[in-house]
Amino acid sequence: MYIVPETEIADLVTREQSFDAVEKVFASMSAKSAYNFPVIREAIGHADALYGFKSGFDRAALNLGLKSGGYWPGNADKGLTNHQSTIFLFDAETGKCRAVVGGNLLTALRTAAAAAVSVAHLARKDAKVLGIVGAGHQAKFQLQAVAEQRDFERVVAWNRSPEKLATLEQTAKDLGLPFESVSLEELGAQSDVIVTITSSYAAILNGTHIKPGTHIACMGTDTKGKREVDMNNILGRATLFTDEIEQSVTLGEFQHAIIDMTIKKEHINEIGAVINGDHPGRTSEDEITLFDGTGVGLQDLAVASAVVDEAVKRGIAVQVDF
Ligand code: NAD
Repeated sequence: MYIVPETEIADLVTREQSFDAVEKVFASMSAKSAYNFPVIREAIGHADALYGFKSGFDRAALNLGLKSGGYWPGNADKGLTNHQSTIFLFDAETGKCRAVVGGNLLTALRTAAAAAVSVAHLARKDAKVLGIVGAGHQAKFQLQAVAEQRDFERVVAWNRSPEKLATLEQTAKDLGLPFESVSLEELGAQSDVIVTITSSYAAILNGTHIKPGTHIACMGTDTKGKREVDMNNILGRATLFTDEIEQSVTLGEFQHAIIDMTIKKEHINEIGAVINGDHPGRTSEDEITLFDGTGVGLQDLAVASAVVDEAVKRGIAVQVDF
């Protein structure tokens, strides 16, 4: 069995490799050669933590395993990341544990890669303004990955506490992109691509502010009850996409439209179908495309597997008799 510690991950996988792994696994999910098992996510009644498992099997890539982890809100005070994850890979032939891989950076990379894949396949080719809603741990990764997908000319951003936008501003500067802190109304009116990446439980972005032709990647809602977008004024003029329909209607952004009965499951399309050429994706310049990125276990397995292969190749993986 191999161990690849968290400290080694940054040198073992690029954004491009994460994008490729996630794009491939979304395609496999839509082709029905990969599937996710039901998600477990529980408030454990200790340290205010949410803990759970995301798991699945990709028959094409032979990736079998799970990500175990969750959210410990008190971690920041201890100098630790609030999200803590570990990925376990198993040999699909024997069930033996193949690898244990640090999952914190990989979670950020595979989540950002999902938004980037949605932008690559659904955003207008001439998108110029990128809007980011949220400035927490994930936001910087989202900006870095999405910015690579179009020739963006500037970044506008909003956060509940505007002073926390400094990291995002620095990231934009490092990418050579002008950055402006704006109101939500301005963000909606100016952006061609919007990424929402907050842990909000109430709609922040209002559909009335979104202009025609926008692509929105809703990446923050990954739990029952969370919500980022008021879709009332979007649904009638948007085409809806997600990573996995079952997950999007239970714990993703579309859960609310399903509960309100404004949409049915049949209105939601898999991004994998677009990647595979089974869905046309965006069909007009004025269409709003909305991607609900809920985060599936297969994404974690895909990036972790790429990391293990690379770590073994470079002699970095720690081998243990197990
Ligand atoms: P974080 O705790 O570092 O940051 C949280 C962000 O949400 C901050 O910008 C904060 O200002 C904002 N926020 C919280 N409550 C809000 C409210 N009521 N109104 C407006 N803004 C609010 O979290 P993070 O690590 O950046 O993660 C952000 C979200 O993304 C979380 O909900 C997390 O669970 C989710 N996430 C999703 C995936 C996925 O695959 N879809 C993967 C990882 C994380």
